[in-house]
Amino acid sequence: MMNLQKRPWIQVPLILAVFVLLTVPAWAEPPVKNVIMMIGDGMGINHITAARISLEDGAYSQLNIDTMPYTGFSINFSNNDLVTDSAAAATALATGFRTDNKRLATLPDGTPVKSIMLMAKERGFSTGIVATVKITDATPAAFLVQADSRSFEKTIAEDILKTETDVLLGGGLDVFGANPFTKEPRTRSLINQAIQEGYTYVFDRDGLMNLEVTPDLKLLGLFMGGDMSFEITRFNIEPTITEMTKRALEVVGQNPQGFFLMVEGSKIDRASHSNTPAEMIGDLLAFDQAVGVALDYAKTHPGTLVVVTADHETGGFGITSGDPSGDVVNYGWLSTGHTGAMVPVYAYGPGAECFTGTMQITEIPVKIGKLMGITDFPAIIEVDEVEVTN
Ligand SMILES: [Zn+2]
Repeated sequence: MMNLQKRPWIQVPLILAVFVLLTVPAWAEPPVKNVIMMIGDGMGINHITAARISLEDGAYSQLNIDTMPYTGFSINFSNNDLVTDSAAAATALATGFRTDNKRLATLPDGTPVKSIMLMAKERGFSTGIVATVKITDATPAAFLVQADSRSFEKTIAEDILKTETDVLLGGGLDVFGANPFTKEPRTRSLINQAIQEGYTYVFDRDGLMNLEVTPDLKLLGLFMGGDMSFEITRFNIEPTITEMTKRALEVVGQNPQGFFLMVEGSKIDRASHSNTPAEMIGDLLAFDQAVGVALDYAKTHPGTLVVVTADHETGGFGITSGDPSGDVVNYGWLSTGHTGAMVPVYAYGPGAECFTGTMQITEIPVKIGKLMGITDFPAIIEVDEVEVTN
């Protein structure tokens, strides 16, 4: 044994070594504390182009999305189809696994898998969902539940509440058991159950905007019986996606450890299924405003990563001719369904440079997980840990 008393020269490096050991964890802290993942459902690059052209300066206009410094492409086919549906694509974005169409966070053989959002929750992050369709719809649901089919809506609603997600904002009053006229919860409804478990329930824009954000607030806001309206025909009682995003950030942003918020511009897809450009562009511009809110938040809250992407393209939309002023634009649609096109990925914040080039859709949450310090992702769920809806 070395006697340190007799060798004082060795004490300095030793003390330094101990100091380094003690301080390494601080240096090795994951770069990302907050994640705002934003999904434009069905949002292809031509949809974005059309939304940009629709603004005042025509093709010279700039969307908030256009200001994001890092961009890439996502290859999004599903396990059993070149053209993915929203369930398989959401599963890929939420869990890092490719699966068959219609499946929510389950592998083709039924094995349940865990979303990055649920893993973040387990590690003490706050979590939140904002959507403009029912919160039981495929994209939000894949982040919260595991099901063999996206159509098991009632069970999906029950399972969503079990996750104790801090913020749930969107449509879906009917399945959660509200009276369709008064929007008050029925006695034995899921909304009442949520209230008993500590959620604050709001059902209109005033309720959401006037709400006092308290430190332990858990927020359930359901604003329409089914999906919310398109932006251009939105009722005044419905909040905008931007308002929902702002409120969600106020709630989840209170957690000093950080948060994972998913915001879906859900109805870009719906409008593209019906080949109606006015609705599509209205919802895309509304989504882009919510992206602006997310970017503003990230600029004032270091450690916030914003990733904007789409699950797939819908409609095979394309601009065929026109004037750069945007006064004359001719366009066409290839389909009333989804297409197999690659979709864009945009990133801002720490680690944003990881989202460049052409990537598989499943890589997106894995990259996010690594940046958050969640390294045991993607993850299969042990069978006794969860009940799969089948
Ligand atoms: Zn669709």
